[in-house]
Amino acid sequence: MPHVITLEGKVALVTGASQGIGEAVARRLAAAGATVLVAARSEEKAAAVAASIAEAGGAAESVRLDVSDPASVTAAFKGIVERHGKLDVLVNNAGITDDGLLLRMSKESWDRVIATDLTGVFLVSQEAVKLMMKKRVAGRIITVGSVVGLMGNPGQANYAAAKAGVVGFTMSLAREIGSRGITVNAVAPGYVETAMTGALSEDQRKALAEKIVLGRLGTGEDVAGAVLYLASDLGSYVTGTVLNVSGGLLIP
Ligand code: NAP
Repeated sequence: MPHVITLEGKVALVTGASQGIGEAVARRLAAAGATVLVAARSEEKAAAVAASIAEAGGAAESVRLDVSDPASVTAAFKGIVERHGKLDVLVNNAGITDDGLLLRMSKESWDRVIATDLTGVFLVSQEAVKLMMKKRVAGRIITVGSVVGLMGNPGQANYAAAKAGVVGFTMSLAREIGSRGITVNAVAPGYVETAMTGALSEDQRKALAEKIVLGRLGTGEDVAGAVLYLASDLGSYVTGTVLNVSGGLLIP
């Protein structure tokens, strides 16, 4: 009999799911049967994604959430408890860049990126862990990091620091809560075709593709497949790891 990957009966929160990688992840988890909470600061855009998932036959609803704002995180989880009573899967995907060479990088730029890409992961994971432990679910926490956090990138010291921080966070949390049956992992994409990389010129894109072993930039779906693996039964014995989804841009 073919093996079917199913998340039937699971509630999954995907942060930053109103576009790009988060949207692809939300669609993939919904297609596997999860009820997906599509979260972003812009509730209008999140609602449009949730409606489109529902139109395709999935279960989804939007959540207004700013991962960098503790009050917003608390309010979002209050709503999740009221509406669903539990959370099985958290995908920490919300992230921003604010690039610049270190000598010209402002403290504001540093703080903004750390607040969303690292502190946001802490704030949302903390609420998720509380709820998962209370409901005794075999929870899954998956954070979208970046190969930049493993190899660095000029002009992205703030982003690389945040994404490297996520790796230490993932390993530590995995050790803390493994005994509760909750797994904690990260995925590290390389270059993915989204708004974040939309400013690249055709020449820059070609030059990048030449550095990638598989010869092309990734898609949101490429990352979503890896997230689904970690969220599903197939990934049940995997914790504290960083899954490199870079098409071979990084082969350590
Ligand atoms: P994107 O297209 O810019 O989308 C970012 C998403 O995050 C949007 O839905 C945005 O919605 C949301 N967001 C931003 N700040 C937020 C906040 N404070 N609270 C809640 N939601 C927030 O980015 P992407 O390329 O899909 O990237 C998604 C993740 O993958 C990020 O963590 C990024 O670092 C990582 N990544 C991307 C690439 C790449 O090449 N694209 C490579 C490696 C890793 P709102 O603005 O409405 O909140």
